[in-house]
Amino acid sequence: MSELPKSERASGLPQSSTVAIADLAARLRRQGESVIDFSAGRAVEHSPKNICAVAIDAISRGQTHQTEARGRPDYLEAIATKLQRENSLNVSAAENVIATLGCKQGLVLALFSSLDPGDEVIVEDPCFVSYEPTIRLAGGIPVSVPTRPENKFRWTKAELQAAITPKTKAILFCSPNNPTGVVHGPDDLQVIADVAIENNLLVIADEIYEAVTWEGRRHQCIYSLPGMQDRTLGLMGLTKSYSMGGWRIGYAYAAAERINTMVTLQQHLMTCANSFCQAGAAFALSEEATQSMYPLWSDWENRCRYLTAELDALPLLATRMPEGGFYAWVDIEKTGMASLQFAEGLLEEHKVAVVPGGSFGPSCDHYIRATCVRSWSDLREGVLRIKDFIQTLG
Ligand code: PMP
Repeated sequence: MSELPKSERASGLPQSSTVAIADLAARLRRQGESVIDFSAGRAVEHSPKNICAVAIDAISRGQTHQTEARGRPDYLEAIATKLQRENSLNVSAAENVIATLGCKQGLVLALFSSLDPGDEVIVEDPCFVSYEPTIRLAGGIPVSVPTRPENKFRWTKAELQAAITPKTKAILFCSPNNPTGVVHGPDDLQVIADVAIENNLLVIADEIYEAVTWEGRRHQCIYSLPGMQDRTLGLMGLTKSYSMGGWRIGYAYAAAERINTMVTLQQHLMTCANSFCQAGAAFALSEEATQSMYPLWSDWENRCRYLTAELDALPLLATRMPEGGFYAWVDIEKTGMASLQFAEGLLEEHKVAVVPGGSFGPSCDHYIRATCVRSWSDLREGVLRIKDFIQTLG
């Protein structure tokens, strides 16, 4: 029988390796192995109980119907108030924001509303594993521009400029960065803004880790730079900072016309974000609920400091405290191993799951990524196991 019809476009996509390794770790655990999972990009904590209570209450009060495609007015209002309070952005709840089903779905709406077939989108190498597949599904062409460690994983203006072609439509970047932990300061943002303005490009800023920055740093939105308001599309969410990954809730902000196009797409694609999840998220973004997160975020900072210091102290490994986000980006070059070989060896022989750096971009095959916000006992045990693994290499 001839092969049944299928999509070449979809079947050609690579798997998300972060999800694949987490799945493998979960399977080993089900088989009775004691796996330490530093691969999944999430904290060990469940969603805060005070936030869950609001969503449960919304369900019991019958808020179980679809909402406006743009989102519930109270959620949109909470987003605009939070953007003003925490990020000093002046946006209108009615015009400039949309509720999304997590940051990934915000990215889908952003790309499908901005690209035509063949349009090029500049992305960082390394970058979040889903950028390139999503750009391709939207008909675009990802153009990877390495962010070199010599320049502290930031682009220079010349590097960006050299990647521009007549087909370039957008720059997509992430700060605080997954996986490098870089938080873009005003000068870094200005480099991207200058290139975007000079070449009339859209900037898509993935700001999913914006609430978790360390050592006194604060996230700055590129939207706030002169000339950037109309050409920036910001993506934020609650998945990471509030441990709400299963709720599939996030939001995007941009100029009214761009948001309107995303709303039309949302009407056709998903109808709306989940009604009671929007209710819980509206409360999560309030000043009260945000402040209730501070003790946990501060403990996350300590966990990031602990894991990076311990790993950096091991022979053959080098890493540093992330500026934001919660990953250790570990240079394994001195082991002489490729990142997948290192990750597989560590998982199979010592039952510690990490993500091979090669999944984040072609320039990163001598890195691995380890999530720092696991339980303190897992961090301590994981460090011992990694130490044993490194000793077998020496
Ligand atoms: N962007 C980045 C940089 C991420 O690390 C992740 C999650 N790993 C996402 C987007 C996806 O976020 P969400 O789960 O809210 O869709």
